[in-house]
Order: sequence, then structure tokens, then C-alpha cells
Amino acid sequence: MEKLEADNVDRDEVGRPVKNLLSPRSAFMLLLGSAAHELWHFSRLPKARKVPPGTLQYDCNICGRPNAVDLTAMERESRTCLGCGSTLRHRSVVAALSRKLFAGRSLPLDEWEGVDALKVTGVSDAELIARALGQKVAYTNTFFHQAPFLDICAPAPEYFSSCDVLVCSDVLEHVPPPVDRAFEGMRKVIRPGGFLLMTVPCTALERTAEHYPDLHEYRIIERDGRSVLVNRTAEGRIEEFDDLVFHGGPGETLEMRLFAMNDLERNLRRAGFSAIEICAQPDFRHGVYWQRPYDVPVVASVPGGGPGA
Ligand SMILES: [Zn+2]
Repeated sequence: MEKLEADNVDRDEVGRPVKNLLSPRSAFMLLLGSAAHELWHFSRLPKARKVPPGTLQYDCNICGRPNAVDLTAMERESRTCLGCGSTLRHRSVVAALSRKLFAGRSLPLDEWEGVDALKVTGVSDAELIARALGQKVAYTNTFFHQAPFLDICAPAPEYFSSCDVLVCSDVLEHVPPPVDRAFEGMRKVIRPGGFLLMTVPCTALERTAEHYPDLHEYRIIERDGRSVLVNRTAEGRIEEFDDLVFHGGPGETLEMRLFAMNDLERNLRRAGFSAIEICAQPDFRHGVYWQRPYDVPVVASVPGGGPGA
């Protein structure tokens, strides 16, 4: 009899009797409660997914259209707005400009107010950016090959201190060396107290890769179906390159260099810019998310200008 009772006692792993603190009724109630809790949790799980996991739902800050994009497909140059066809670069330029104009707030374009007198000059801006900014600020786009002309490497004196903001997006990788002239040119056309908003494709390397440092008199010829750059250096030496990289098609879009982010900052400081901001922060609500923390908009100020300037 005693043995039977002993066998009914719960034992721990070394065989010692364990005192059961719960009556069978309490244990049952506890089990019931825990099952009910699990059921409640289960009932609160989403019944079906409206969008696949990893999708960013956002409203375009240029056209306002709601979009849903796989975050890993959020590439710098892919058209990720189904409304206006804006790319990450386009939306990030608008977001960076908004943050600068509206005390750090990234507002969609249709909420911009009170900036219609702001003089903004574009350096060969994309049509999409030109049209968008043209609705809100006193905007002029300029070109190297058509009116209104602006050679950012050698701006005409009438452009000096002519704008509050200069937008220069993906241009400086195409201007002939030495690139310092373009940085100085940009500083000259912005009034003291104004600022530059620029983008260029960048690397995390220490130094900018200058593809044709001795470019002087050059032309691009076709040979055996390939584009070849033939250059005569200032010393009269002839050199040829056949590994040309073009952006968006052959012609004036030859890639002259691949900037290193570190060098970009050095270039800006050397040309007299200050308060350089690397705008890598995401704005998920407006479709701005950088998978790489470079390639991003950079804002740099031109010192000077008094209060209210
Ligand atoms: Zn859009």
C-alpha cells in the first residue's frame, strides 16, 4: 500500500519526491486559462497579408501617388514611382531640399509654402525635377549645350551670386578635369548665405578615381564597333582609352571620374563651401531609403550673407 502511494508522488530528476503545490482542479483551470490566452493571441494575427513582407509602402513626395516597392529593389536610378516615374535620387533631392527649407521637415511638394521667391538654379536637371521645383520656387534650369547656357566650370559673370540654391545632380562625374573648376564655379553662382544641393555617384574608397587626368584635346571615335577616346595631353603626348563608361547613352555623358565620398568633401571645402551635410537619412514615408550610405545628396553652404540674406 505504502509503495503504491510512493509511486504516485511526482519526483524530480534524481528521484526525490516533489511536493505538488496545485490541486488537480487548480492545475486544470491554469491549463484552461493558458489555452484561452493562446487562442486570443492567435485571433489577433493578421488573417492575410495585403503586401509581401519587405515591401515599403510610400507616397511619392513629387506626385503624391501611393506606391509599394520591394525595399531591395529601391535602386538609385530605377523608376520606383508608378505615378511620375521618379527615382530614389529624384525623391531624395526633393526630401533634402525640403529639410533644408522647412526646419528639418521632409514635406511632399504639394505642402511646400512660402518659398515662391526662392531663386533656385538647376545644372542640367532632369525634366521631372525641373517641372516639380518650377511649381514651387523661382526655378531656372540651365544647360551646357542650349539656352539658358551655363558652363559650371567657367560661369559667365552675370551668373555670379545669382541664386539662393544651386541644384547639381549627377553632373560633376561628367565634367572634364580638373574638376576643381566646377566646384569653384558652383560656389561662385550661389550668393553668400545660399547653398548647394548636389548628387554624384560615389564610392567608399579613399580617393576619387579620375579616369582621364591628362585630358586636354580629345575626341571619341568609333573603332571596330567600340568607342575609343583619343587624347592629346598638354605636353603633346597621344593617349587612347577604350574602356569608356557612358551614362544614359553615348555622347556627352562619358563618365570622367568616380568620386570617393571623402574626396567630395575635400573638393567642397577647397572651393570655399562650409557646413557640409551628407543626407543619408531615410524618409520611408516618401520612398527615400538608401541601401548604400553614399551616392546620397550632399548639401553645402556658401559662407556669408547677413541675417535675412
Ligand atoms: Zn511620383
